[in-house]
Amino acid sequence: MTTSAPTLAFIGAGNMASSIFGGLVSNGWPADKIIAAEPAREKLDEAEQKFGIRTTTDNAEAISEADFVVIAVKPQIMQQVLKPLAPALQERKPVLISVAAGISEQSLSEWSGGNLPIVRCMPNTPALMQQGASGLYANAHVSEEQKKLTTDIMNAVGISLWVEREEDIDNVIALSGSGPAYFFLMMEAMIDAGEKMGVPRETASQLVAQTALGAAMMVKETGVDAGELKRRVMSPKGTTEQAIFTFEDGGLRELVEKAMANCHKRAQEMT
Ligand code: NAD
Repeated sequence: MTTSAPTLAFIGAGNMASSIFGGLVSNGWPADKIIAAEPAREKLDEAEQKFGIRTTTDNAEAISEADFVVIAVKPQIMQQVLKPLAPALQERKPVLISVAAGISEQSLSEWSGGNLPIVRCMPNTPALMQQGASGLYANAHVSEEQKKLTTDIMNAVGISLWVEREEDIDNVIALSGSGPAYFFLMMEAMIDAGEKMGVPRETASQLVAQTALGAAMMVKETGVDAGELKRRVMSPKGTTEQAIFTFEDGGLRELVEKAMANCHKRAQEMT
């Protein structure tokens, strides 16, 4: 990223925001083009020391020079944070990127004074390790150039993919937003079973974590369909086949579908 990088303001400098600006700085985004605003002075001091970005306790001051505003406060306080910022946002007209789960574009637009370019972003917790997967939705005021820059910003913490319809953000929640917990559950169950078989928990945990990482990398790096990769390791009458048949007979697929449908339903209720 060159010095012509746009200026980014972060409202809220908690876990998600610091992962994003931390990722941006390590990817070469100029630190003097990033400003974070937050009431907790100690978080700002940490951000300054660690990443060299600028900070303020005044949200409106951060917005006054921003081309993109990433709003990373808890959903419950979004309205009370955004409404007083409407005049500053209307004057500057930056792209407003919300990472808050469950707050619709319509609410964001209403609270920020209307007609702003708004992006709803659904990241997930591995963003904290720069391995996140984010779904992005833009309203009609966001230009193609602004979409490209938003992708650059969110790619600092992993990969990001655009969806055309806002309701698809609820599908993103069911897939990747809540997805890490599905894998944690699977890993936990495997570690528990390994321990019951007599393997020390720490050993089982390391074997399972590396297996999950390796399997994910095979899907990502080879581009081969996950189902095909599974078939390739299932030799007829072999050990893996026994395990996979047990999962299939037990209805794992139907259970996954039901779990994701329930997650999606809850996301809709919350928006
Ligand atoms: P967090 O509590 O770590 O950060 C929120 C920050 O907002 C805190 O530092 C808090 O001091 C600050 N804040 C409070 N009042 C403020 C105000 N008036 N003005 C400016 N800042 C204020 O929470 P987080 O985990 O970073 O989550 C932030 C947002 O990201 C949430 O909306 C959450 O839904 C979304 N999100 C987080 C994750 C995740 O993995 N952490 C995943 C998906 C979405």
